[in-house]
Amino acid sequence: MLRSLFIGLSESKRLRHFAEQSPLGLRFSGRFVAGTQLDDVIRATQAVNEWGAGVSIDNLGENVTNAVESKHSAELYHRLLDEISSRKLNANISLKLTHMGFDVSEDLAFGLVTEVVDHAVRIDSFVRVDMEGSPYTQRTLDFVRQLHRLPGHAGRVGTVIQSYLHRSEKDVDGLLAERIRIRLCKGAYKEPPEIAFPKKADVDANYLKLARTLLKSGVFHGIATHDERIIAEVKQFARAENIPASAYEFQMLYGVRRDLQQQLVREGYGLRVYIPFGSEWYPYFMRRLAERPANVLFIARNMFRQ
Ligand SMILES: Cc1cc2nc3c(=O)[nH]c(=O)nc-3n(C[C@H](O)[C@H](O)[C@H](O)COP(=O)(O)OP(=O)(O)OC[C@H]3O[C@@H](n4cnc5c(N)ncnc54)[C@H](O)[C@@H]3O)c2cc1C
Repeated sequence: MLRSLFIGLSESKRLRHFAEQSPLGLRFSGRFVAGTQLDDVIRATQAVNEWGAGVSIDNLGENVTNAVESKHSAELYHRLLDEISSRKLNANISLKLTHMGFDVSEDLAFGLVTEVVDHAVRIDSFVRVDMEGSPYTQRTLDFVRQLHRLPGHAGRVGTVIQSYLHRSEKDVDGLLAERIRIRLCKGAYKEPPEIAFPKKADVDANYLKLARTLLKSGVFHGIATHDERIIAEVKQFARAENIPASAYEFQMLYGVRRDLQQQLVREGYGLRVYIPFGSEWYPYFMRRLAERPANVLFIARNMFRQ
């Protein structure tokens, strides 16, 4: 019930406007968001690189409504790629298609994202297209397939599969047929039971099933979860199948289970931390609270300690 409440609140435009303008809101969100400026995320990336993990940088924003905003979002990604290259950061980028004008015009978004992937290819980097709510699932997969087929793009662009969706097994097969890199996650949006498993146990079981398929595919994928049981099962499966740790990576969110992140690095596993930044942090932050409502207490307690 609390999950639904927070996901519902994440869609409130009024609350979002209020929170994003408020200095207190910014302090609250600091647990999961690196800051509002490019320099903030560069500093956070360097700090994570120092203890041995890679990073995927997300410039926060979604559902832009005009071409000017879409082009502005793309420009920021170009600046990010320049910074990644000149500072030799161990980092790539994650973006949302609705931040690149997907709701305005697919052609506009395709042009902008193609240029971003071209830039990533030039600096030997990678672009992950995040997965949004179910109205975008098929369109995102089609978009990424088209991008992947452009000359030089194979292996440089990938997307995300959510294990809570019934359709995901078929989608995994489709993407693997073209050797497209996948980040596997459980899914962060509110979806109806007709298309998504309502029970957490079923989402987890599907996650493990899909993770095993990914590990055996011979393509480099991201296992994105903080679920210790699933992580242990993935490690065990990889060992039993003689799949080396270099054939895949674990991925986790900035500010979530830092202890577990550092432990995986100490054990010799590849780990990538997803670091978001930007002024439009509200929907992202609320989805993180939805995953673990106890975070509200946790964050509040830490604020009073500071
Ligand atoms: C790198 C990365 C990229 C992602 N990209 C997408 C995407 O493109 N599209 C999408 O829909 N979703 C995305 N997600 C979010 C994902 O779908 C889940 O909502 C989120 O990761 C929580 O699921 P879990 O696998 O950690 O498992 P859960 O079963 O939710 O959590 C397992 C344990 O992890 C800890 N935990 C999980 N979340 C939190 C939190 N917010 N705060 C504190 N502790 C927590 C808790 O201890 C919990 O018991 C991404 C997640 C990661 C890690």
